[in-house]
Amino acid sequence: MKNAAPWSDPRAHLMRQTPDAALLYFSPDQLQATAQAFQAGFPGLVTYAVKANPGAEVLANLVAAGITAFDVASPEEMRAVRSVCPAAVLHYNNPVRSVPEIEVAAHMGARSYSIDDMRELDKLTGRIAPDAEITVRLALPVRGAAYDFGAKFGVGPERAAELLRVVADRGFTPSMTFHPGTQCADPVAWGAYIGVVAEVARSAGVRLARLNVGGGFASHRTGTMPNLGAIFTHIGAEVARVFGADAPALVCEPGRAMVAEAFSLAVRVKALRETGAIFVNDGVYGGLTEIRDIGAPDRITVLAPDGTPRTGAPHPRVVFGPTCDSIDRLPDPLPLPGDLAEGDYLLIAGMGAYTRCLSTDFNGYGLRDVVTVAHL
Ligand SMILES: *Cc1c(COP(=O)(O)O)cnc(C)c1O
Repeated sequence: MKNAAPWSDPRAHLMRQTPDAALLYFSPDQLQATAQAFQAGFPGLVTYAVKANPGAEVLANLVAAGITAFDVASPEEMRAVRSVCPAAVLHYNNPVRSVPEIEVAAHMGARSYSIDDMRELDKLTGRIAPDAEITVRLALPVRGAAYDFGAKFGVGPERAAELLRVVADRGFTPSMTFHPGTQCADPVAWGAYIGVVAEVARSAGVRLARLNVGGGFASHRTGTMPNLGAIFTHIGAEVARVFGADAPALVCEPGRAMVAEAFSLAVRVKALRETGAIFVNDGVYGGLTEIRDIGAPDRITVLAPDGTPRTGAPHPRVVFGPTCDSIDRLPDPLPLPGDLAEGDYLLIAGMGAYTRCLSTDFNGYGLRDVVTVAHL
């Protein structure tokens, strides 16, 4: 599928339309290229973690690029996926589900379910297909990510082995999964998990059908582009080394790294104070929420309303969001050009993940518009 993009790039749109609300620019070609790079490089099945950006145009372009399986966490995400791809394979990998949610998933034919608790396995038993895949989620104290996902979900190796044995005894298809954390650039984090997964399977006496190595692949937030190829190679080599002939098929479920580069966020300077601080039309209640948790992105271009780039020497500026709440302020000043003026735009690259879906309507602000461009 080729997308007709009415605008060549964000600058062309900004200078013609001078939008006064914060908005996202989306490049379908960029998204499809990333999906193809994942599928060419990852040694297994590439699925997409819908929560990172559940937009219909995202899902449709991933399907167009050949993605057929999705990591979903709720009935609403299942419906979003199926509405753009009726044949999509659903992996229901939120380890905690209500009984009514399980019934929806079973009705929709979800194929795979992760668990980290015996009671959750009991809830699934008898309600989903008797040979469905159940993946036991392992958690280890592994560093390398921006924040630790093991703090909420997953069990240690001993408990994982017990669960895996029961999964196999009940006739389900036994698999395992883990998630190294988010914005993880270190291949060693995956390797550490893979080694323990092999030990867990061995001690349980269970041959794993599949190993889902999660998401967490770092996106290009700051500095240089992370080397995903090195992570893919390390995952493939470690699985071959520790499992040998028993190697399970591999699955990954990137969210952030799949979608981040496909969108840029444009925010406008509403006011420039004498102190040099600025008020912009988006903040921590909108698309900039994650800055509090994982730091600010550093690829920011400032454009005057006529499209001219501001080139003044960078100046650390306090950045306030648009709402009347004093929390609505970025935690650290951003280095922004000295010649920045009211009415300018900050064009922030790599903002496709965890922006639109986390944006609220608080005080009447929030991210509502997505403009399609040929390139970012
Ligand atoms: C959030 C999540 C992902 C995606 O994580 P990213 O850091 O966005 O890649 C994948 N799998 C599960 C189970 C998740 O909860």
